[in-house]
Amino acid sequence: FASDITLDAQHLQKSYGRGKGRFQAVRDVSLRIRTGEVLAFLGPNGAGKTTTIKMIGGLVRPDAGQVSIDGLDPHRQSMALKRVGAVLEGNRNLYWRLTPLENIEYFGGLRQVPRRVARQRGEQLLEQFGLSDKRKTPVQKLSRGMQQKLAIAVALVHQPTLLLLDEPTLGLDVEASETVKTLVREIATGGCAILLTTHQLDVAEDLSDRVAIIRQGEIIAEQSTHELIRQFSGSAYRIDCG
Ligand code: ATP
Repeated sequence: FASDITLDAQHLQKSYGRGKGRFQAVRDVSLRIRTGEVLAFLGPNGAGKTTTIKMIGGLVRPDAGQVSIDGLDPHRQSMALKRVGAVLEGNRNLYWRLTPLENIEYFGGLRQVPRRVARQRGEQLLEQFGLSDKRKTPVQKLSRGMQQKLAIAVALVHQPTLLLLDEPTLGLDVEASETVKTLVREIATGGCAILLTTHQLDVAEDLSDRVAIIRQGEIIAEQSTHELIRQFSGSAYRIDCG
């Protein structure tokens, strides 16, 4: 199929626990994202969004199904991990005592980016993200919005083709949330495929090209955001996202 597909995930399944306590968090999820496309993964708490993102990012092994990032399987080919950057909710992937630039250099090192290159890219990313004047401030002194922007910058240091963002605007004030949304659009325009989870319909509306709605571990609808807005505007129906 088309070579502009960055992510192709097919029939992913994942259960947690054993015996009677066994719980199927993801029943059957398939997603495709093209280069430069933003897909919003929308659903209530506990629907299986984070588990899906972790399977795609190579962090949780699926019980069944396949993931392909630029044709590489993150569970079998470590090269695939160089293609993906992730910002997981509640785990901002940052060292609080280090400065933004030190964080970028450190995480770049983990992805085999030479220090000099990481520093150069770090300077550029901090500039693009409006964090240049904070590059020597310890992360713990930054606002939540700045930390979130930095977490995204860190996830981009190895120039992934797929960016995974778990609830990127959760807990941010309106201004910070708008800044993060603008950045996400810019990153997609730069050619990155983006999968973001949210339980807020307005975030999906503002940011995404396409929306996949997940409930109880299954995708129940998938369509262009434009179509979704057209369908629901003025109607009494609302997507109950918890
Ligand atoms: P949220 O927005 O709350 O993060 P989500 O849609 O991302 O929700 P998941 O975090 O994927 O959903 O969780 C799906 C279900 O799997 C939930 O019921 C959760 O309690 C359960 N779950 C997730 N991780 C584990 C785990 N490590 N062990 C056991 N159960 C888990």
